[in-house]
Amino acid sequence: MPTPHATKRPTDAAYLDDRTDTDLVDLPRELLTLPWIDIHNHAHTLSWDDRERYALAGCRSMLMVASGYHWTPYKPVEADDIRFLWDDAINRRTVIERNHFFEAKLGLGVHTGVRIENPDELLDAMDDYCALEEVIAVGETGVVPSQHVSGWSVDEQRAVVQAQMELADDHDLPVILHTPNTSADAKRPYRDGLGVTPGYEKNAGLGADPVLDGENPALESVKIDVAAARDAGLDEERVVASHADRNNTAYLMEETDCYLSYTIGHSWLVGVDAADVADAIDEYGSDRIMIDTDCANVLRTDPFALKRAIFELYRYGIDIDDIRRVVVENPRAVFGFEE
Ligand SMILES: [Zn+2]
Repeated sequence: MPTPHATKRPTDAAYLDDRTDTDLVDLPRELLTLPWIDIHNHAHTLSWDDRERYALAGCRSMLMVASGYHWTPYKPVEADDIRFLWDDAINRRTVIERNHFFEAKLGLGVHTGVRIENPDELLDAMDDYCALEEVIAVGETGVVPSQHVSGWSVDEQRAVVQAQMELADDHDLPVILHTPNTSADAKRPYRDGLGVTPGYEKNAGLGADPVLDGENPALESVKIDVAAARDAGLDEERVVASHADRNNTAYLMEETDCYLSYTIGHSWLVGVDAADVADAIDEYGSDRIMIDTDCANVLRTDPFALKRAIFELYRYGIDIDDIRRVVVENPRAVFGFEE
């Protein structure tokens, strides 16, 4: 018989005492306050309230990536437009830290998702930017199979990516790779003219013909990036492949020494979530794994995503030590965030 309780009739609580596995349920209280680091977001484009959500959820440090072309006002995109994005992030970083208390550092780079008219101008300027104390990474960058509006040949993209890797190596900075995802199939498409994020550059109807069209162009792009890193003399441990997914995990884990960062802030779009991270930890261990949100104002993203993933990883059976390694220790080791 269950132990008597004060309740009018027995509740679930009355039966707990007899369960043999009661002692096995170990609630991970430390996860409630575990600090975490987001190594890839665009929080400088978010609202004050969204950044405050990072702080409320225990974010200790973040890397705000200023290389997206979505924010450039003029089309086609010129070098100066990208440079404005870098300067804008530098301009606002300090106030973001003072508003929300987490450490906010910067990644600057030339993304190849849209053709840039005169990239050499940017690469020339980048040397001085890389020397800035607040710049702790180069990127995001990486070859992509197709551009918006006007294509950029693979050779030209690769040259831009490799030049940035050489700069990163000169300055002993890690590189954040943008690896293309193989998006999850949408249940149904949006009506014409809207798309994921309407506008000139992201209007799917304006997509340029792919410049890589083999069987698996998303994976092919990553392989070109890794070859570029090797040619640049950049250690693979200094490369963090963001947007890791089921399509590129085996290659990156088994044939390179790169880190893999799983982007879980817009799972509705790319289908990657904490379950993928848990599977990767089970299979390869946690030594080269991170998680990022990629939160940005150009699409629906969740500033709580990383905190939610911490709980979800535990529910999926991942040890607390592995969770801590993935969300705090690996980011600190690679990017040098403060203790
Ligand atoms: Zn991004």
